[in-house]
Amino acid sequence: MSVLVNFKICDNAKECGGIAVCPTGALSWDEVNETIKIDNSKCVSCGLCEKECPIGAFTVVKTKEEYDKAQKEIDEDPRTTKDLFVDRFGAVAISDFFKINLDEITTKVKKDCLTLIEIYNPDVAECLLKSIPIKDLTRNLAKDTLFFKAESDSPVDEYEIKELPSLLVFKSGKLLGHIDGYYSIDELEIVLSKLTTILKDSN
Ligand code: SF4
Repeated sequence: MSVLVNFKICDNAKECGGIAVCPTGALSWDEVNETIKIDNSKCVSCGLCEKECPIGAFTVVKTKEEYDKAQKEIDEDPRTTKDLFVDRFGAVAISDFFKINLDEITTKVKKDCLTLIEIYNPDVAECLLKSIPIKDLTRNLAKDTLFFKAESDSPVDEYEIKELPSLLVFKSGKLLGHIDGYYSIDELEIVLSKLTTILKDSN
């Protein structure tokens, strides 16, 4: 009786639905190593985690043959999280393309176009599945809008941020406003409306 997790495609988040539904504690969150922990001595192969995971990262097996077959499939799986998720607001960056350091912000925002900078704390970032895809976040903005993500373990006083993540909106080096706090995919319209207000007020 075992479960296997395909960590190549799993975003390995504390909020994992598999952990939440597991009735025996076979799946738990390891705070020290920040990873999903599996204790197959507790797994009863009920299959709840497999049903819960929307990306199919769990495989539940009942025999040694099934285990070896599933492990082989995972070993040979060419996919990565980048193939399944686009980068998202409120989650740890999965593409280095978006990542900058805090001290690079002033240089990055100098252009005439809109520049959005997300400052987030990787220690309290949310599950990728629940966070807002950046392409949706920027869908009402000009095509040349730039987006970057910078890590910080605390709100940045310089921008009067109250809570992370914070989405800072710049134009030509000037900070137009920021949206503080986490918003899930269900709250996309709220964030879009806040963005519209910031842009309107700056005109
Ligand atoms: S199959 Fe059931 S018992 Fe085993 S890890 Fe998944 S949810 Fe837990």
